[in-house]
Amino acid sequence: MSSITLTINGQKVSARPGQTVLKAAQAAGIDIPTLCHHPALTASGGCRICLVEVSGQRALQPACTFPVADRMEIQTESPKVVRARKFVLELLFSERNHFCMACEMSGSCELQTLGYRYGLDHWAYPTYTQRFPVDASPPHHLMDHNRCVLCRRCVRACAELVGNHTLDVRQRGAHSMLCADMDLPLGESTCISCGTCVNVCPTGALVDKRSAFMAQPKDVVRVATICTQCSLGCGLHVVMHRGQVLRLESQWEAPVNGGLLCRRGRFEALQDPRPRLLEPRIRENGRSSPASWNYALSEAAHHLHNETPERLGMLASTRLTNEALALLNAIFVKQLRAAHRGTVSVDIPAFPFAPCGKLADMVASDFILLVEADPARDQPVASFFIKRAVDRGTRLVTVESRSTELTAFAEVSFIPRDMGIAVDLVQAADRPVVLCGGGLRKNEAELLRRAQPKARFIPLVAGVNTLTAAAFGLINRIDPAACRTLFIAAADESGALDPAAARIDPATFVIAMASYASPLTERADLVLPMATWLERSGGFTNTEGTLLRAHAALPPSGQSRSDWDILGRLAERLGLDAGAARAEIPRCDA
Ligand code: SF4
Ligand code: SF4
Ligand code: SF4
Repeated sequence: MSSITLTINGQKVSARPGQTVLKAAQAAGIDIPTLCHHPALTASGGCRICLVEVSGQRALQPACTFPVADRMEIQTESPKVVRARKFVLELLFSERNHFCMACEMSGSCELQTLGYRYGLDHWAYPTYTQRFPVDASPPHHLMDHNRCVLCRRCVRACAELVGNHTLDVRQRGAHSMLCADMDLPLGESTCISCGTCVNVCPTGALVDKRSAFMAQPKDVVRVATICTQCSLGCGLHVVMHRGQVLRLESQWEAPVNGGLLCRRGRFEALQDPRPRLLEPRIRENGRSSPASWNYALSEAAHHLHNETPERLGMLASTRLTNEALALLNAIFVKQLRAAHRGTVSVDIPAFPFAPCGKLADMVASDFILLVEADPARDQPVASFFIKRAVDRGTRLVTVESRSTELTAFAEVSFIPRDMGIAVDLVQAADRPVVLCGGGLRKNEAELLRRAQPKARFIPLVAGVNTLTAAAFGLINRIDPAACRTLFIAAADESGALDPAAARIDPATFVIAMASYASPLTERADLVLPMATWLERSGGFTNTEGTLLRAHAALPPSGQSRSDWDILGRLAERLGLDAGAARAEIPRCDA
């Protein structure tokens, strides 16, 4: 039977067999209130807020778990249902301290919203006056047990989405308490501070420290963009209030990560303490002083134009947009034919395959081979997908020179010399996925290639927009000491630049395009201030080979400009055909 018909509140509704009452009602535009339910999590039916009357059933049933049946009749707001919901709400409000006026979530709490919806101006039970601790031990979030309604969304999110299993509920009945591991403070537990639990908590129990009490949801603006801290390009929302960034939140519909973010992407990306570069600067007669954009770009073009290809070098960050990398290719490869080209902090070998899989393929996979990669360190959200798959029974096998956090999750770990055995296992699986971090010797790569017809291959590349940089031939280390003129598009790279700065010959003329001050920009003769990841739009090709689009949440600070804007103006001054350069930009509509 492809579809069945039921009646909800007198309205005929079509549904799929096996669908829950909640999903069928939502598809028909009928609202049923929920509390413990979250669309990204399995339904638990724990809070009883979504109770509905179902024909033929003696008791009210939770809509989030009760399956539809043909000709079923359902009432979602009958007097009996409303009475039951109010009763549940009275219990929840009386159980802990829900003094909304002193709560960060007031105005956006799902419990509070339900209280208003059902006119809960008092309750018959004594208010619970016991004080519970507030656990502020994690670096970026806190847990206020006084506000917890024990809906277990956070417990399910940590287990089902992150695969971390840090949270649970200890004791029973009125003594139930959320806990981390064997009742440790969160900051001392196995919590990896990804913030997924904070994002799903419906009350003010789990709170982001940075943005607490800053603004209510009705007053904020959300900008959808991607994280550019690693090569996954996870989709996220930048939450803005009066032009300020409050926090980064999950974008549940994001195609790459399905709402998951790691600690670096959710919290640390907003905490760069380095001083910003806000104006072009030029060093003349040994002194660095501010310059106009016009003068700085003309000087840059003059030095580049007059350098010989043999003594000209260019280093690019993989944090640049597709547009900027295409322009660098047009300027330094095609026009100036610079002999020295490379990337700033990434050095990856060629992969023996092209990407043909997505992280989401791991959901249905029965076998994952992880080769010379440490995703828990380098692409944490990919490690969440792996741990989730292992939880569901997918076999994980690793081939690695040194153990990583995921080694403990593997059924077996091989050294690279035993690649052939691992490839045999891939070939014996039904839906294998191979994640490869590179660093393979030629014979190991050849063996891995044998798995290609069957397996979905996902390279786990270092850096960020590394696949586009590789496509433009930038992945080869250069010796900055060999260059007389050196253009470094450093973007907002971290300390990885400092060794490069140390190797530059004192006589070399250095042009640095960067967002933050560093030993490199101190050394540079010409500094072109660049917008940060939050301040510029542009395309990125992620490690799956998917074209993604970043959207600026803020205008560029000071006089800084987007990478492609600076390079486009430089190209014009070099007499370049900007149209031809633009034709090579990888296209994306995302
Ligand atoms: S902390 Fe939040 S999500 Fe977790 S059980 Fe309590 S109310 Fe629910
Ligand atoms: S922050 Fe992440 S790892 Fe820590 S408890 Fe929450 S979901 Fe689990
Ligand atoms: S996994 Fe990478 S892209 Fe995703 S949130 Fe973390 S740092 Fe950002």
